[in-house]
Amino acid sequence: MAKDNGFLYVVATPIGNLDDISQRATAILQQVDWIAAEDTRHTGRLLSHLGISARTIALHDHNEKQRAASIIQKCLAGENVALVSDAGTPLISDPGYSLVRQCRDAGVRVIPIPGPCALITALCAAGLPTDKFHFIGFLLAKSQQRQNQLAEVPAGVGTIICYDTARRIKDSLQDVAQVFGRDRELVLAKELTKTFEHLEYGTAAQITAWLEDDPQRCQGEMVLMIAPTPKADTDVSEAEINTLKLLLTELPLKKAAAFTAQIHGGKKNALYKVALQLSGETE
Ligand code: SAM
Repeated sequence: MAKDNGFLYVVATPIGNLDDISQRATAILQQVDWIAAEDTRHTGRLLSHLGISARTIALHDHNEKQRAASIIQKCLAGENVALVSDAGTPLISDPGYSLVRQCRDAGVRVIPIPGPCALITALCAAGLPTDKFHFIGFLLAKSQQRQNQLAEVPAGVGTIICYDTARRIKDSLQDVAQVFGRDRELVLAKELTKTFEHLEYGTAAQITAWLEDDPQRCQGEMVLMIAPTPKADTDVSEAEINTLKLLLTELPLKKAAAFTAQIHGGKKNALYKVALQLSGETE
């Protein structure tokens, strides 16, 4: 008689505090035949903390497509596999998408085991709107690319959430001010669930000053959140705001407002007022 298919479990692991592993995640990691891990040595430390000795397979960005085939073979042969990343929820700025997609296509059931995720952990403590939010993953490495990445975020998406690195954060804050204006409210969440957890609130300049006050503050893992666009007291549409934001990365205020008015047939003066708000200047 043919063996039933095994499952792929997508298991979230802690983002700092090891006590955040759930009972269900621990039980699954104990039971499965294989654990597919981004970095088997890193995951080995979590497993030894949990007293689990399981067989691990390395699955990372560079071998995921090929490795997925052998993991699917195992599942089709009746073995259960857990997918974990170095920290948090797999697939969220981490490997796993290709494997999950291929499992779906091959008829292997994928079971999520929820748990920590840095963007949700940051958002729930930031005091920024949570009814709508937009996650853009890691901010890009180069300033101009980063500005384009930020300018392409459509207006009206709510709080914007980005992952960033300690090495780049000060440059990123400058780019955020350039694209969203110097007055835009930001929250930087650092070292979540760890000893030096801290959330800093303020404008790009205020958060930069806080970082510069103590070189140690420029270390560790971080999530940057950008408050939603303040409501303009004009009837400028979201499409106009999006165009304006893109043009403002290249053009002075007046020109950006004039071109936006030409493109959308809107009012130049109203657009100029919004451009002032976006760039943090006042009339
Ligand atoms: N899969 C993970 C998740 O569920 O959040 C994210 C993995 S991504 C490779 C790593 C990035 O997540 C870090 O560079 C940082 O931006 C963010 N991050 C992870 N752990 C964090 C923590 N404890 N505090 C703040 N940010 C964290």
